[in-house]
Parts: sequence; structure tokens; C-alpha cells
Amino acid sequence: MKIINIAIDGPAGAGKSTISKEISKEMHYLYIDTGAMFRAVAYYVLSHGGDTESSKSVNSMLDDIDIDLRQKDGAITVYLNGEDVSSLIRTPEVSRGASDVGTIPEVREKLLQMQRKIASEQSVVMDGRDIGSHVLPNAQVKIFLTADVAIRARRRLAELVQKGENVTFDEVLKDMKFRDKNDSERAIAPLCKADDAIEIDTTHLTLPQSIEAVKKAVKDKIKKIK
Ligand code: C5P
Repeated sequence: MKIINIAIDGPAGAGKSTISKEISKEMHYLYIDTGAMFRAVAYYVLSHGGDTESSKSVNSMLDDIDIDLRQKDGAITVYLNGEDVSSLIRTPEVSRGASDVGTIPEVREKLLQMQRKIASEQSVVMDGRDIGSHVLPNAQVKIFLTADVAIRARRRLAELVQKGENVTFDEVLKDMKFRDKNDSERAIAPLCKADDAIEIDTTHLTLPQSIEAVKKAVKDKIKKIK
């Protein structure tokens, strides 16, 4: 069977992971959350006394980091050197650290190789910032999700509060703006829409509406290429 790659990019809080999971379930493709990989690197560095802003510090630890993403019943478990870190990597501190380590070429290269290998072996829905533009430039379907930053912060706050995190709207908004800037302005593989990506703005859409809009775009595109 032909391998299909679906790339879903966009800024933090645009709905990428929830939507990507739904699409992967519907299509029976593997879901790869590349943000979780950057988060796992940041978590390792932070929990070993390193500095995520220092490429020297991060690079000295890179060879000790082994990341594995496993999918079961639609849920993704992130293993870092065999330990399940799925919930530990979702804190605001790790979010910022992930954005920092994402600017380091050696980190991007290590994860790029892993991401390309997985996508060459099976059909995937891969979400991130640079999937359509850089990681999988030949992906048959590319979606670029956007939404107003305040809406994205509100959505992320609701998610964090539900998980029991003690954060305020202002903190989440500040984190979003920091990451938007860091992710868009970094020198290598910045957050950007691939020329051939379909852009979907979810600002005024509910989650079910966003999922429907992306499902429709994906199916229309796949029909055309088959
Ligand atoms: O998607 P998520 O919010 O989990 O990503 C965490 C951070 O990892 C992002 O802010 C971004 O800096 C980085 N990242 C990246 N490239 C990707 C995915 C995530 O640089 N493909």
C-alpha cells in the first residue's frame, strides 16, 4: 500500500495535536507529535541540571537522550530513556525549554533524522512547526493551522487547568507570545507555512468544527492524488 504523509503545522495552541490525533484515528495512520520530542529533550536537560539556552550544555547531553513515541488506543506515550514522561513534559517550564532547544541545529538534526525515518516506513500524521516546509517537503497533504493568539492562550489555559496545573491566563499568553516569536524567528527551520499547504484559521471555529474542516481538506486532497 502507498505510504501517505500528512503534515500539520502551526503555532502553539492552534489545535494541532487534538486535530492530528483525530485525523490519525480516522485514517488509521500513526500520529507523530514532534513537539513532544523537543519537549523530551528539554525535560532531560532541565532535569539533569543543564541550561536549555546554552547549545554547549544541551549538545553535551544529546547522545544520552533516547526518545520513543508509542501509540495505544489513540493515546501517545512519550518515553525518555525508557521512562514514561508524557505528563512531565507538559509544564510551562518545559514548553519554554522546548522552544529554546528547538533553535539548536544539532537538536533539530537529531530529531529530523528520527522523524524522516518514521515517515518513510509508514503512513503518518505528523504535527509540528516545520513539517510541511522542511521535515517532509514531499508530504502529499500539508495543513497549516492558525488562530488568534489570545484564543490560543485561552484554549491552552483550559487544557492546563484541567490537568491541575496552577497557571494564569497572563502567564499562558506570555508563554505563547514568547514561543511564537522564538519559533518564527529562529534561523533554521522556523515556523512557516509551506507554499503548497492549505491554511485553516480556527479562531472562530469550535474544536469539532476545526476537526471537520481539516478532515474535509485532507480527504479532498487525498482523493485528488489517488
Ligand atoms: O507543539 P508543542 O507546543 O508541543 O512544541 C513545543 C516546542 O517545540 C515549540 O514551541 C517549538 O519551539 C518546538 N518545536 C519545533 N519544531 C517542531 C515541533 C516543535 O521547533 N516540529
